[in-house]
Amino acid sequence: MFINGAWATEPSGSEFEILNPATGGVIKSLPDGGAEAARAAIDAAAEALVTWRVTTPYQRAEFLMRAHALMLERQEDLAKVMTAEQGKPLRAAMTEVKYASDFLQWFAEEGKRVYGEIIPSARADQRFHVLHQPVGVVAAITPWNYPISMITRKLGPALAAGCTVVLKPAEATPLTAVETFKIFEDAGFPPGVVNLVTAGDPKPVGEEFTSNPKVAKLTFTGSTAVGKLLAGKAAGNMKRVSCELGGHAPFLVLKDADPVHAAKGLQLVKFLNTGQACISPNRIFVHRDVLDGFLDTLSGRVGGMKAGNGMEQGVTIGPLVNEAAVAKVENQVNDAVAKGAEVLCGGTRLTDGDLGQGHFFAPTVLTDVTPEMLIYREETFGPVAAVVPFDDDDDVLAMANDTHYGLAAYVYSQNLSQAMRLFEGLEFGIIGINDINPASAAAPFGGMKDSGLGREGSREGIHEYLETKVGGFSI
Ligand code: NAP
Repeated sequence: MFINGAWATEPSGSEFEILNPATGGVIKSLPDGGAEAARAAIDAAAEALVTWRVTTPYQRAEFLMRAHALMLERQEDLAKVMTAEQGKPLRAAMTEVKYASDFLQWFAEEGKRVYGEIIPSARADQRFHVLHQPVGVVAAITPWNYPISMITRKLGPALAAGCTVVLKPAEATPLTAVETFKIFEDAGFPPGVVNLVTAGDPKPVGEEFTSNPKVAKLTFTGSTAVGKLLAGKAAGNMKRVSCELGGHAPFLVLKDADPVHAAKGLQLVKFLNTGQACISPNRIFVHRDVLDGFLDTLSGRVGGMKAGNGMEQGVTIGPLVNEAAVAKVENQVNDAVAKGAEVLCGGTRLTDGDLGQGHFFAPTVLTDVTPEMLIYREETFGPVAAVVPFDDDDDVLAMANDTHYGLAAYVYSQNLSQAMRLFEGLEFGIIGINDINPASAAAPFGGMKDSGLGREGSREGIHEYLETKVGGFSI
């Protein structure tokens, strides 16, 4: 743990183990920080806030840009740690480190553009001046699927805005967080500005984050169930909250789409991170006129994927995070098959040879998926492409919106009017139109409905860490 500028152990001495999901082996143990550690970190952040909040955005940008440069310098080392504890292929981990560094750079610059406003008054003797100021101490909780970019997507804007931070990373991937905090230390952030509390049991830390009066804001990325629980507790103490939660992305392939192009896109985005992404397509609606071409290309590409340890050359898909994740995927596939879905490829656990030591499930394509199946409603978070054939482009908008989630959606169409109609009608926060990567540090990322509150990235992302103050000046 990193508290008040120093590496710390848990006072009680208890630790938890971090496992490699490809091999089942123990990588390391870390301190199991509880409420006491969280309180110490919050105290340090509150003390550091006094001086950090009055630094200029230009000074804060210098710290962030140093961290950005160090992150790129250490890209490969960070990626190796991430692959070991999270499982994604090394190349994907390298890409994630680069994406994570983008948030440090982008918000270092954006901090300089937190402009106020002068508003004309109805009274001749009055002027309104609007000012944005840091909210204060931020408590951040991140998930295991993107172990570094979920950290910088929060800390980049929070620090640029003038806030201080306490982070609790996921139990499965704290080693990447430790390496990230070594970067903050080496970039010279003053003691207490950034604090890290590792924990095997998240509950005491969550309690402290949502009840400690020194915490002004909770920012959470993870499941909808935990997000609702923590947002409820934080609301009771009137803390600002932003939440990036689960998704159930529809992927629409319309009658006029190029089925080969759409299938290539689907394969890339669906199997990214072994399907463990909040923006992963979960219901793939394909018009029957282009279904055969789509399924041929998709099955061919998915059948050619190589599962294995992400450290090995040639591996294109890693393990799932743990046994519970494999069991959830297996249950969804078995349920779909029992209710009439057809398996075109994969469909089972992978246990041959070394794969038997880890948590592997074959990259899978299902077709003839229907609304009665679990996979049509539940977030899969695994390597299963669930194809739902449909007959009329006019019906597909309502089908896509038929979910309590609202994070990402994708549309493949060559018809501009159809694409625009769907872009405007889809109840999701992030929409790819013939595009599988509608995310960047510069673009707002976040969901509607049960997928969350607020946005990360972009100009909106920094305003999540700012209060608005108005001054009425009588002259
Ligand atoms: P999770 O179980 O909700 O955990 C997320 C984080 O919350 C972890 O650090 C976890 O700690 C912590 N946590 C769990 N229970 C807690 C409690 N009672 N008090 C305080 N903290 C608690 O979610 P996950 O399985 O790690 O992540 C997968 C989910 O995240 C998916 O639903 C995915 O869609 C979503 N996600 C969303 C986005 C987005 O931007 N919208 C991005 C990535 C992931 P432990 O690890 O110790 O349990």
